[in-house]
Amino acid sequence: SAPAATQLLDLHSARALVDSVEAFLFDCDGVIWKGDKLIDGVPETLDLLRSKGKKLVFVTNNSTKSRRQYAAKFHSLGISVSEDEIFSSSFAAAMYLKVKEFPPEKKVYVIGMEGIVKELEQAGFTAIGGPEDAEKRAEWKSNTLFEHDKSVGAVVVGLDPYVNYHKLQYATLCVRENPGCLFIATNQDAVGHMTDLQEWPGAGCMVAALRGSTEREPIVVGKPSTFMMDFLLQKFNISTSKMCMVGDRLDTDILFGQSSGCKTLLVLSGVTTETLLHSPSNQIKPDYYTTQVSDFIGFLGS
Ligand code: PLP
Ligand code: CA
Repeated sequence: SAPAATQLLDLHSARALVDSVEAFLFDCDGVIWKGDKLIDGVPETLDLLRSKGKKLVFVTNNSTKSRRQYAAKFHSLGISVSEDEIFSSSFAAAMYLKVKEFPPEKKVYVIGMEGIVKELEQAGFTAIGGPEDAEKRAEWKSNTLFEHDKSVGAVVVGLDPYVNYHKLQYATLCVRENPGCLFIATNQDAVGHMTDLQEWPGAGCMVAALRGSTEREPIVVGKPSTFMMDFLLQKFNISTSKMCMVGDRLDTDILFGQSSGCKTLLVLSGVTTETLLHSPSNQIKPDYYTTQVSDFIGFLGS
């Protein structure tokens, strides 16, 4: 049967949604904050949902921070969130290696930031590259090989503002010279909000560079891949039919929620406009949409 049309959230549907859902999964950028700027009314809305006994989970494709660093960011914005309520794509990359029983004696080469390195280390893996290779330069000379550690068994790629030719050569050799080497992408977002004012190239840019040089397809662990959902389900033991994914992107958040059987709510406080949502070229229809998460305050009362 054809999916029901997207419905603008109103008093009646908001109350029915909250009554039927045990957990809300929130995307972060465009929903909770934009860059480092909190979106209006978010702390009050989260408090209201918690006071109604709802579990809250935060799922972000931004790999630059670890869960601990995200908990600190939430606190600095006046929101109390614990590390185990946060599912970042940096954590997902580490969990993927855990689930696949990646041998701890092998190393992981990182194109990305501290968030990935910290999560890998916390999971017991040895990470090399990343911020350490920020200033390195690749120089080719006749009769000189570019050396790389042959014990690297996985390459993890996320957003890296210090990406350089050295890192690309390193990761390329790891993948091309070892067919067993895993090529993992934290996410493939085209652009991200490094600040609230502008979009900048996202992880998709670095992933595409390595896809180009290795001629391999990455394993994507961030949204819309449902890899994180399997983890979330184990952790919270709630059926996906009692979850609502709240996000601002159709092709990551809403697709992620729908692929795993969650209810979905699109907020217009991020990258998606109402025009794009309703345009004939858009195939991804959330169950509900609303301006921003704080609309719940008006619908649910205090
Ligand atoms: N990756 C990077 C580097 C970003 O800056 C952003 C948003 O700012 C994202 C991913 C998307 O994050 P989220 O999934 O929280 O919207
Ligand atoms: Ca988002």
